[in-house]
Formats: sequence, structure tokens, C-alpha cells
Amino acid sequence: MTRFSKRKPDTVMVKDRKLICPVCDNDQFIETRAQMNTAVASLFDVDFANKTARCFVCSECTYVFWFRS
Ligand SMILES: [Zn+2]
Repeated sequence: MTRFSKRKPDTVMVKDRKLICPVCDNDQFIETRAQMNTAVASLFDVDFANKTARCFVCSECTYVFWFRS
């Protein structure tokens, strides 16, 4: 998780709406990309396996938003 700290947090727009953390109401997120591994793929469809996802990590509480890309 230490790699997240290298990026500066910023606001994120999704569908013309500002992303707000549901846990702490923060609007600053650190964008990262994650490879969907087999452990994660077991939670989703098979088509989801080995795809790349966009992730936004709340800079306050580290809640993670995942967006399939
Ligand atoms: Zn948060």
C-alpha cells in the first residue's frame, strides 16, 4: 500500500459528479491502477479476470473505489 503515498490526492469526477467518500465525506482521492488478480476475480465474473481496473483511494480513510476499465 505504500506506493499510494507517492501520488498527490485530487478530486475525481465520475459521470459529471464529484466522487465523495461514503465513509468520511472526503473528496480527495489518489488514482491508481490495479491488475485484477485471480483472488479478486473469484469475487466477480470470469470476464473480469486479468483486466485492469481504475482505483481511487480516499486520502483520509483509505476506502477504495474500483472502476472497471
Ligand atoms: Zn474516506
